[in-house]
Amino acid sequence: MQAGIYSSSLRAICAPVRIAADWIYAGGCVICGRECRAALPLCEICRRRLPVFTEPLCPVCNQFIPSRQPHRNCISGAELPSLLWFSGLFDAGYRPLIHALKYEHERAIGTFFGRRIGRHLQESLPEDGTTIKVVPVPLHPSRESRRGYNQSGIIAAGVVRTTGLPFVEGVLRRVRRTRDQTRLSPEQRIANVTGAFAVTDPADFAGCRVILVDDVWTTGATIKECTRTLAAAGALDVQAVVIALARPQATVS
Ligand SMILES: [Zn+2]
Ligand SMILES: [Zn+2]
Repeated sequence: MQAGIYSSSLRAICAPVRIAADWIYAGGCVICGRECRAALPLCEICRRRLPVFTEPLCPVCNQFIPSRQPHRNCISGAELPSLLWFSGLFDAGYRPLIHALKYEHERAIGTFFGRRIGRHLQESLPEDGTTIKVVPVPLHPSRESRRGYNQSGIIAAGVVRTTGLPFVEGVLRRVRRTRDQTRLSPEQRIANVTGAFAVTDPADFAGCRVILVDDVWTTGATIKECTRTLAAAGALDVQAVVIALARPQATVS
């Protein structure tokens, strides 16, 4: 554990250097601190121990969907995605991964999990000829420029690598600065993101299906608001992809 804490602090200090010299400095595993290959800061042992979910959840009834097809009777209104794809639970191993992806420039984590989830979802994509676009939940430009990247965009790029679907960035935009949701109550989260998103041109989404990508689903407030915005622009269907679920779920706990 000490090694993990030490490694995390070291990585935070070294992060700016590491961007320039990734091939020289390889931090340890973000979970245990063990030495690991430079391409991914997650060692083989922790990777094998991480619980991985391969079936999506229905965001309406919170049941797993082995058929990977949306529950016809559960689709309610335009604010919820039809399927919620995720890799694991925030409090069951994924917390340090998300932290490193968001705050320690460990972009390879986003790519790795995006690719993995992309492999699971690509087998059940509708083949009815409709266009399917991969869209990251946008950050406000001021936050993205401070961080240097949008972690959801990194995950989305991973999804695109395995699915071959088009990556569409910049046309769903965060038009209002919002507070970090981490410390907000469920009610505050909804108020924080209401009206925060807009599309540049509804024609970009009219008649399309969307794979909407974010890092974590907690109460779903951000994804719901994006889904509502995309549906209002004419999107036929939205499926959500996140690396981890932070919401306590009876069905997965
Ligand atoms: Zn490890
Ligand atoms: Zn359902």
